[in-house]
Amino acid sequence: MRTQVAIVGAGPAGLLLSHLLDEAGIESVIVETRSREYVEARIRAGILEQSTVDLLHTAGLGERLDSEGDFHRGIYLNWPGERHHLDFVDLVGRGVTVYGQTELTKDLGRARQASGQRILYEVTDTAVHDVATEQPFVTFVGPDGQAGRIDAEVVVGCDGSFGPSRAAIPDPATWERTYAYSWLGILADVAPSTDELIYAWHPDGFALHSMRSATVSRLYLQVPTGTDITEWSDDRIWDALATRLGHGQDGWTLTPGPVTEKSVLPMRSFVQQPMRYGRLFLAGDAAHIVPPTGAKGLNLAVADVALLAPALAALLRDKEPALADAYSETALRRVWRCTHFSWWMTTMLHTSDDPFDAQLQLSQLRWVASSGAGAAGLAENYAGLPIGY
Ligand SMILES: Cc1cc2nc3c(=O)[nH]c(=O)nc-3n(C[C@H](O)[C@H](O)[C@H](O)COP(=O)(O)OP(=O)(O)OC[C@H]3O[C@@H](n4cnc5c(N)ncnc54)[C@H](O)[C@@H]3O)c2cc1C
Repeated sequence: MRTQVAIVGAGPAGLLLSHLLDEAGIESVIVETRSREYVEARIRAGILEQSTVDLLHTAGLGERLDSEGDFHRGIYLNWPGERHHLDFVDLVGRGVTVYGQTELTKDLGRARQASGQRILYEVTDTAVHDVATEQPFVTFVGPDGQAGRIDAEVVVGCDGSFGPSRAAIPDPATWERTYAYSWLGILADVAPSTDELIYAWHPDGFALHSMRSATVSRLYLQVPTGTDITEWSDDRIWDALATRLGHGQDGWTLTPGPVTEKSVLPMRSFVQQPMRYGRLFLAGDAAHIVPPTGAKGLNLAVADVALLAPALAALLRDKEPALADAYSETALRRVWRCTHFSWWMTTMLHTSDDPFDAQLQLSQLRWVASSGAGAAGLAENYAGLPIGY
């Protein structure tokens, strides 16, 4: 088949890109290895920056987000004996919205279906070809075992951290940081014990109390990389969360509940550049991974496609290449800012065996919590910089 833009991957980046391109009158086809049900049920991110929320509204995707999203003015920072609230709205004039990636993916899936978007689910052996020419194409094998081919003017790799698109860019520069710890994450059918997220430093390790709705909590524990999840019973998880999050501190209590999902998520920082080679563009996790501590992964994917969609519209519709030529450099400015912020939050909050590091972390936390300048720096990055930063 033939289209203007062939998109590899129907995660948030691929689906939103096809939506924005459609609005600009540009046709696309998406290929995706998983089923639609799998993509929409995948539990991942849940914090939307203000600029992401604004973009979704402008794109006509704000209805359920408005009724079911939960606006948060800020976060709590916690360490033994102390809890401080940072009010992002007071500090920088904007906050964040709790809305699960699952819900955003469902909204995008419905909107794409209503527009008649062609999405080929459950394909295998996806490969991108001839991206250095003006006639790139994508090949794949459909669920019926039939070989398929999409000829396009542009190919966009939105295929996440394990997809094939990134490897089609010859001799890229890459940077990577792996961490000695992972996150053990749970979803629990219990009302959150807090109105806004609690980021907790504790000598036993970091903990985070997040949420997905008024009845579903999402909580995380720092565990060593390579941790076997079967060693963590639900009781052990709740006990560790209670200790690290400060159960009993100033009368605050953590209410446990039935665990419906648990998994261990390794932490990694990764950037590949450039994000464009010939007629191949990368967006989202295909080009960069951040540890989730700064809640940036999903927002970065959205910011990439918010830049890329108008750039491709100008290139393909108006034959104007300037925005497309600038895409990689422009996107990478924000990518590196978020890469630094995610690393900074991660290294401030996750403990190592080094007692000197622990004192530095506590000193930094006290400074962020007590200095207007320190708090505003965290707030500005967490609530998100403008798309075109
Ligand atoms: C387990 C996990 C937990 C996370 N938790 C958080 C969190 O708590 N907070 C946060 O901010 N971020 C989190 N993230 C990061 C965030 O979810 C991602 O940054 C976001 O999903 C990026 O969107 P994307 O569309 O670029 O990539 P993805 O969501 O990864 O989508 C890529 C799509 O491409 C498809 N694909 C892959 N290979 C192929 C192929 N060969 N052919 C066709 N399709 C292909 C995949 O199936 C997938 O649907 C998490 C990530 C993971 C993996």
